[in-house]
Amino acid sequence: MALSFDQVIEKYEPTLGLEVHVELNTKSKMFCGCATTFGAEPNTQVCPVCLGLPGALPAVNAKAIESSIKIGLALNCKISPFNRFARKNYFYPDMPKNFQTSQYDEPICYDGYLDVEIDTDEGKKTFRVEIERVHMEEDTGKSLHVGGATGRIHGADYSLLDYNRAGIPLVEIVTKMVKGTGKYAPEVAKAYVTALRDILRSLEVSDVKMEQGSLRCDANLSLAPINSNTLGTRSETKNVNSLRSVERAVRGEMIRQGNLLESGGKVIQETRHFLEESGETRPGRSKEQAEDYRYFQEPDLLPVAPESKWVEEIRNSLPEKPAVRRKRLQAEWQVPDKEFDAMLNADLLEEVVQTVAAGADPTRARSWWLGEISRLANEAGKSPAELISTVDVATVIKLIEQGELTDKLARQVVEGVINKEGTPQEVIVKRNLKVVSDDSALMKAIEEAIAAQPDTAQRVRDGNIPAAGALIGAVMKSTGGQADAAKVRQLLLKHLGQG
Ligand code: ZN
Ligand code: MN
Repeated sequence: MALSFDQVIEKYEPTLGLEVHVELNTKSKMFCGCATTFGAEPNTQVCPVCLGLPGALPAVNAKAIESSIKIGLALNCKISPFNRFARKNYFYPDMPKNFQTSQYDEPICYDGYLDVEIDTDEGKKTFRVEIERVHMEEDTGKSLHVGGATGRIHGADYSLLDYNRAGIPLVEIVTKMVKGTGKYAPEVAKAYVTALRDILRSLEVSDVKMEQGSLRCDANLSLAPINSNTLGTRSETKNVNSLRSVERAVRGEMIRQGNLLESGGKVIQETRHFLEESGETRPGRSKEQAEDYRYFQEPDLLPVAPESKWVEEIRNSLPEKPAVRRKRLQAEWQVPDKEFDAMLNADLLEEVVQTVAAGADPTRARSWWLGEISRLANEAGKSPAELISTVDVATVIKLIEQGELTDKLARQVVEGVINKEGTPQEVIVKRNLKVVSDDSALMKAIEEAIAAQPDTAQRVRDGNIPAAGALIGAVMKSTGGQADAAKVRQLLLKHLGQG
């Protein structure tokens, strides 16, 4: 009988560890001047240094050091005044040098923390995730396995290698062991990666696109019997490529390990791959121990010794923290907790911020992104931001505010923009969606409505104002929804002696 998640956490306590790799958005690579553009023709952004050719000498990218310090400071880390690179030796075809230039026992930043807030049974609760280290290293190339059913090397006919990514600056952020999360371990893991992504985005040091691999998370997890004071053997689930998957991967691994332990089995220390479809993990290679990498100090690079004056300058230039910014925006926009959380959960905060920055009212901006646009995105199987630009949404909202579009017409404009019929203004012209605000045209429609419902009109004349609703509805109908309802109401009541 398999244990459910709830049964697992009755007996076992999880310990989490999260390793996040971030690709920095520097224009050039970590140790050479090669470009870093995503999606370029394979092997067009390479040179003797990043190909590891004999005699080529690396030099550290100063911008990458600055970005790493920014990340460390934003994560409340200490910045090492003197740190060095090391060679991490292993053979893999996507790594032309046969070692990765990384940092080992001397990381640039260490001893920080990130507080994350999650919903628990007792309301919102903050968990502190301690950061062990933030270190600099370089990315590997990419391999493409051709032939075979799975796209993996097993069963492939041949493999192709693209070294464009080899040498792109990476920062690796490693947490200390996260204990005491109990049944909230999956949520804490997700909240941590989310908060980290938001910080990295606010620092403008990375694209932080999990789906493109510029933010990659490995989740370590072990279980130990509750109150045992021991530590179980951990597994490492690799390259979980969405925020939702982080949560699912931890949950799935807790269930797998719990059932394994319960049946008398042993967890082995290994790398596992997350399967997006099932939410389960499957084994990869057994995990190397640090000593297997034969780390040694990199002889071709000088130590990194950031001056404290520079570090303080960077500290003073850090942007507002995302958590602080969220609180400020919520207060400015006067949004209740529940609705603000809905926007965060839908990952639409940045869209709303940009729409407001383009001149739209915050309440309308939220309602359009979370309502109509999310609905259309859902139908299309895309993310809302892929459908329409924030500038176009702001334009539509401003036209509503100016009375040139009704909500109904605006929905048609948005639909047209999404269908690539042009800008909002072009769609309005093409589909003839202008609001009828011409008084004489509206009066004609009003008189027709009164003629068709003389009894209703008489009730309004006699002072029954709510009865006007039926007449306004008739006018809206006869104008195809293109009339401004407020204006119709005003003209109608005036015409019937109630204005
Ligand atoms: Zn290069
Ligand atoms: Mn690494």
